[in-house]
Amino acid sequence: MDRRVVCVSGSTQGIGLAIAEAFARTGARLVINSHREDDASAQALKTLSALTDVQFVHADLSSAGGAADFISKAHQCFGRLDTLVNNAGTFRDSAFDELTEQMFDTTFALNVKGYLFATQAFVRRLAAEQQNPSIICIGSTNSEAAERDSVIYDASKGAVLMLVRSLAVTLAGRGIRVNGIGPGIVETPLTRAGLDAPMVRNRLKQQIPMGRIAEPDDIGGAAVFLASPEARYITGQMLFVDGGILAN
Ligand code: NAD
Repeated sequence: MDRRVVCVSGSTQGIGLAIAEAFARTGARLVINSHREDDASAQALKTLSALTDVQFVHADLSSAGGAADFISKAHQCFGRLDTLVNNAGTFRDSAFDELTEQMFDTTFALNVKGYLFATQAFVRRLAAEQQNPSIICIGSTNSEAAERDSVIYDASKGAVLMLVRSLAVTLAGRGIRVNGIGPGIVETPLTRAGLDAPMVRNRLKQQIPMGRIAEPDDIGGAAVFLASPEARYITGQMLFVDGGILAN
């Protein structure tokens, strides 16, 4: 993997940062991203630059233009791109009767539209002689199994599953592989407040056969594998990294 350039959307904290760290440990060069330039982006740059060459690109991935801008700037960082990880995502749901059009649009803009148009821009930048280019989309166990009062998020992550399959079928002839990772319950800034609510953590642990909530680091290895030459015949798959939740 050494010296390959990996760009990860939404990677200044949580799962995206852990995936970036896992690639950094393989020697890959990195482009990280957020829609915010803040303490988290400064800290992520500091952490990763101790491991590899890394650049930060400020871009909002919730529009086609923002996604294309991310890829264009990411390409300028090192003059090439090898792997794209579509990770920037949001969770904005509520009880069914309170769902709004704005929640739907915000969620689908980042969780689905951003993934598609970052992928399109990435594919346009690939060099003809590119070796083993690949795209990884972060879905969820909710890509496969629904949760009560999670209608918009479930629909968006279900769309990620079909985006992965459809892109894989469409791009296979160009030698580009597309896969997904479906994390289970991972403790990140996105989920921490919910996990800290009374009784929630213990109730969720009981639903996980492995008996613990995932750390972001539990997800990184799957991304490194799917981007590696060892995964050269794998495309259109969603690899669930969920401690056994979906096997239950
Ligand atoms: P997080 O909120 O902790 O981190 C999200 C990252 O994306 C941050 O770096 C944030 O700055 C960035 N970001 C947010 N909006 C953005 C935008 N508009 N443009 C660019 N960057 C943006 O989230 P997380 O928990 O690490 O989740 C990451 C991905 O994993 C999401 O797609 C999420 O749906 C998925 N996921 C999370 C869990 C979980 O339990 N945490 C489970 C399954 C799937």
